[in-house]
Amino acid sequence: MKKHIAVLAGDGIGPEITDAAIAVLKKIAEKYGHEFTFEPLLLGGCAIDACGEPLPAHTVEHCRASDSVLLGAVGGPKWDALPGDRRPEKGLLGIRKAMGLYSNIRPAKLWSALADASPLKRHLVENGVEIIVVRELTGGIYFGERGVCTDEELGETAWDTEKYSVKEIERIARIACELAEKRTKRVVSVDKANVLESSRLWRRTVHAYAEKHYPDVTVTDMLVDNAAMQIVKDPAQFDVLLTSNMFGDILSDEAAQVTGSIGMLASSSLGDTACGLYEPIHGSAPDIAGKDVANPIATILAAAMMLRDSFGMTEEYAAIERAVEKTLSDGFRTADIMSEGMKKIGCREMARRIAENL
Ligand code: NAD
Repeated sequence: MKKHIAVLAGDGIGPEITDAAIAVLKKIAEKYGHEFTFEPLLLGGCAIDACGEPLPAHTVEHCRASDSVLLGAVGGPKWDALPGDRRPEKGLLGIRKAMGLYSNIRPAKLWSALADASPLKRHLVENGVEIIVVRELTGGIYFGERGVCTDEELGETAWDTEKYSVKEIERIARIACELAEKRTKRVVSVDKANVLESSRLWRRTVHAYAEKHYPDVTVTDMLVDNAAMQIVKDPAQFDVLLTSNMFGDILSDEAAQVTGSIGMLASSSLGDTACGLYEPIHGSAPDIAGKDVANPIATILAAAMMLRDSFGMTEEYAAIERAVEKTLSDGFRTADIMSEGMKKIGCREMARRIAENL
């Protein structure tokens, strides 16, 4: 199969981890007889430096024309003082919106070789944890109306708006129910319906949609504060967790931590076409950038999800998962997942070993 992949390396550790994923994809192409081409494009801080804006039109155009997009991470202290609409993160939100990617799937899986890396007590995780967070990506408070003003009584004031339509809720509910159908047929839908009007609409819509279209999927509701508590109290109770944009942003990082390291978790963003955007869930880690110590596994797994979910290459996906498992069980670790008795290696070496184990 011939596939053209747009690569948005971004900032900080972005270039290191996308290079690592490309090395693994090249090995897959060689082994399975595919032809992958990689097109580097600018996004985030590096785009601001090169052309004064975080999301150049050229990047949008070429991402849309690609078969799929691999993203590293954006942002860093260098651009922190810029106004909100010119910051690197604006580029990230912009590319998701421009590509019509409304669903973000973030599997938080505890790898058996890394059971000791979880900060939770062993009995809470020993039977395995795999929480698939299905996060709405292009609505809610990150995209709602916002502003700053000077209130006569309160002084300087700022506001953001959480807003959801039935259409937006239904399309993300469909993604969660579809996934649940292939798994345990259970969805936990997260909201704050005791306080927020938008959450009450969320709850009504998710139930009505699931009952009509996925009668064999059981949807239960959980308030976001309780969900945050349950993820550390009993993570194994969850399978598919359906959330709004902001709740999913927060809970998926918490779920990630339960599984050991943020450096292990990948995510996919999809809309109505096969062209998706695949990235690690972590940020650009400026504190370790350029040192060859970043964990590339999240990005390598993101590339694997691209093969499965955008290109239909299920065998190749499974091969990468097995190669990661083998490398970990051989005792190789990057610094973030290092434990006693294991062999510490860098980002490049980790990618080389995973590619070798394919
Ligand atoms: P971060 O995820 O970049 O880092 C948090 C901590 O985890 C740091 O100690 C970092 O060293 C470590 N870490 C992250 N990824 C790692 C990896 N692959 N291997 C080993 N250790 C890893 O979050 P942050 O520090 O809050 O944010 C840094 C920058 O990244 C900010 O500018 C933020 O806006 C941006 N950010 C970008 C994205 C994205 O591009 N999707 C997501 C989150 C944050």
